[in-house]
Amino acid sequence: MKSSDKTPPRPRRRKDRDAERVFEGLGVAAGIGIGQVHVVESGAITVSEYEIAADKIDDEIERFHGALQKSERQLRKLMGKAGELHGAAAEELGFLLDAHMQMLTGSRVTRGVEQRIRENRQNAEAAVQAVISKVAHDFASLDDAYLAARAADVRDVGNRILRNLTQTAYEAFKNLPEGSIVVAEELTPADTALLDPKKIAGFATALGGKEGHTAIMARSLGLPAVLGIPDLLSFARTGQDVIVDGQAGRVILNPTPARIADYQQRQDELERDEKQLSRLRKLPSVTRDGQRIGLLANVELPREAEMAMNAGAEGIGLLRTEFLYMNRDDVPDETEQYEALRAIVETMDGRPVTIRTLDVGGEKLAASLRDHLGESANPALGLRAIRLSLKHRELLDDQLAAILRAGVHGPVRILLPMISSVSEVKQVRDAMLQVARRIKRRGQKLPDPLPPVGVMIEVPGAALAADALTQVADFFAIGSNDLTMYTLAIDRGEEQVAHLYNPLHPAVLRLVQFSTEAALRARIPISVCGEIAGDARFVPLLLGLGIQDLSMAATALPRIKQRIRNLDYLASARFARQVMDQWDSGRIAMLLDDFNALAT
Ligand code: PEP
Ligand code: MG
Repeated sequence: MKSSDKTPPRPRRRKDRDAERVFEGLGVAAGIGIGQVHVVESGAITVSEYEIAADKIDDEIERFHGALQKSERQLRKLMGKAGELHGAAAEELGFLLDAHMQMLTGSRVTRGVEQRIRENRQNAEAAVQAVISKVAHDFASLDDAYLAARAADVRDVGNRILRNLTQTAYEAFKNLPEGSIVVAEELTPADTALLDPKKIAGFATALGGKEGHTAIMARSLGLPAVLGIPDLLSFARTGQDVIVDGQAGRVILNPTPARIADYQQRQDELERDEKQLSRLRKLPSVTRDGQRIGLLANVELPREAEMAMNAGAEGIGLLRTEFLYMNRDDVPDETEQYEALRAIVETMDGRPVTIRTLDVGGEKLAASLRDHLGESANPALGLRAIRLSLKHRELLDDQLAAILRAGVHGPVRILLPMISSVSEVKQVRDAMLQVARRIKRRGQKLPDPLPPVGVMIEVPGAALAADALTQVADFFAIGSNDLTMYTLAIDRGEEQVAHLYNPLHPAVLRLVQFSTEAALRARIPISVCGEIAGDARFVPLLLGLGIQDLSMAATALPRIKQRIRNLDYLASARFARQVMDQWDSGRIAMLLDDFNALAT
């Protein structure tokens, strides 16, 4: 049996393991969580076994290779992050990942699985499980203690392949003790949706970027979170004390009593701040010189509608309907969607609800739509969002029908994601009319008039063609998250390029300005619903560019209102003109910070 020819790292002594250890990562959701670590392992996955038809053997091997490639990509990402570390931690993690990679590529494991699929016609999951238990058993029975311990690595690799084959989401969150801090290699948006903020005090992961949907969801749920700490899992053990400082991007394992006391004090201060801000709830959102600014909420999960109401939102500016498709194997039908949407519309009690049609694909995946999406070398540029809905018309029709019917219970607006052409909007409008006729024939009620149809401006092409889009759209919503990603060609969820992601890049700002001016000329409403709308730092710039509606996580709303009430609208407009003359994003950031420091 081949092992790594490098000398294995020496096991850590107990004393080292219990010492306080501070890790730096990306703080993606502010707040402080103090609790006990709960490490989420990939876990043993139950797989079913079945026989493959003779003519499907090559497909099955291809499916296995797809899972292998995905596993390799994940390991390479982790290796990249490990390379940024220094000293023993880097070496130790490097050894481990190397060993995992060796097992994936051309090893006994891969050969064994292929042979089982081909010769025994076993499905890939069952073949992986059989080979992994055999190899792990062989390792475990070796005399050499180091090699015997590799059995755990073999199982880890096997579980990684199985997770990628079955696309299993973590399910281990249900029975966690209160105050748990989840520590995992990576949490998908679907995993994050399962975290209950009443029970979970925060989370920390090895992978993940600041603008990905996991980060967005953490902010929405008000869960302190730090992502991108590659060696965290080498040290974290379930049950250890831990602090997650989402503001500073810091995780502290085994904090000393003095450190815990210090953080408890900071937690109290944050709570006091929040209470202070909640007093603004009933006050109008208006600048010092009398300009009213609409404040709306972004909602990812139904339970956030209540949070939006409590925060004093004037409506929902972006309801991401992806939640309907998460953590399940089937696709929700019209009735199920209608009921879920109706509940949200009713919670909002007459305030407008902007319902965005399905936006999966790219980094947002939903296992239930695996067959609809297919494989793509560049998923963010592939069959995502409106493209998927227009290709699979039954998905779009069911969503439109559910939205129209929910619109009987309160004002709704329809928002289309990732629009890049006028013809896409026209196709949706035609579909909406057909669906409306069908609902009428069934004798069910429709809103009268039918809801406004708006488009997300989140592809540079849409921003540049904004004038044309005003002809077919009733309103615009700027999705600065994707607009930044597509303009700068920076994957928003990729931690290795996170430092290059910058909505203050002059190219992004010009596109925001361009589309805002087009909307104002055409007299259609325009809002910003990307993450910059919930960042107080950006408020003067957005207002100065002419934006009068902002939609953000409900948790961000009070702070943004406070910022608006301290701002002068005319001064913001003058400031925005000065910014738009700049060509360097560093200088823009400096001007913005100076302006904010003066005008608070
Ligand atoms: C955006 O892209 O800015 C946006 C609001 O949409 P999402 O984050 O859901 O892609
Ligand atoms: Mg988007």
